[in-house]
Amino acid sequence: MRRTLVMVTAVLGLLSLSLTGAHADRKLRVVATIPDLKSLTEAVGGDLVEVDTLTRGTQNFHEAEVRPSMMLKLRRADALIENGLELDTWADVAVTGANNPGIIRGSPGRIEISRGIQLLEVPTTRVDRSMGDVHPLGNPHFSLDPGLAPIITQNIVDGLSRLAPDNRPAFEKNRQAFLQKLDGEMERWTKQMEPVRGGKVVVYHPDFIYFLTRFGLVQVGMLEDRPGIPPSPQHLVQIIRQMKAEQVKVILVEPWNDLKLAERVAAEAGGGAKALVMANSVGAVKGADNYIAAIDYNVKTLAQVLK
Ligand SMILES: [Zn+2]
Repeated sequence: MRRTLVMVTAVLGLLSLSLTGAHADRKLRVVATIPDLKSLTEAVGGDLVEVDTLTRGTQNFHEAEVRPSMMLKLRRADALIENGLELDTWADVAVTGANNPGIIRGSPGRIEISRGIQLLEVPTTRVDRSMGDVHPLGNPHFSLDPGLAPIITQNIVDGLSRLAPDNRPAFEKNRQAFLQKLDGEMERWTKQMEPVRGGKVVVYHPDFIYFLTRFGLVQVGMLEDRPGIPPSPQHLVQIIRQMKAEQVKVILVEPWNDLKLAERVAAEAGGGAKALVMANSVGAVKGADNYIAAIDYNVKTLAQVLK
């Protein structure tokens, strides 16, 4: 009996050894729910990670459909990086289907990056999701604000380091190098946006609020009745009136939203107003194939159209 126990203990010891050392000699396999988080994880993980994403930048993340291909990616993942705030709740279904205990909620391989983010548009009254509002906990699209990248990347470093503690210094070094580069870009972006500070925009879906706030632009309205609820005719009449009164020159549109409708609203509002498809995510438009490129696209586009 005692002998068996010793054997079992020894085997368990070996097992746990091989578990902690499992990631030392190969890349960590990381899956991110959305492309922004993939790009930021690549920046932090460098050649120590292999990152995939569950969605494309042209998709509406709120309504991503769980597919077998998602489960396949998750089955072999060491970590799942999620946005949280109900943007990517569907990941839970995919994880259950993947049958990978290493990334279920609460396990070390589950990394949520919203920790420490000062949220905007947190409802003051209880929002019932059955009414269709897809931002019940506050606006989840914070990754579009480059000023929040230090917090997001810190959360990624902490998460990856739980799985590969020996690599923490390397993750930190990559993060510092990335943030230094981002700082330089930030200085340039702030200068570019300076002349249009206070500029007014209308959005289709409210996914730009963190970005707009960072650069001193003002969101005066949205085409959707509420986040996730399609525009009603009465609401559009009111938005057109408001755009005329406040001389709004631009409607920001997601690649998955109805550009034609936004263009009609812009034409009705007059004054040369335009509807433009923006990089509301990495991969949303051509050229926005990494985090810095996506932000750069938005800065350039808005600095141009609002001047
Ligand atoms: Zn949203």
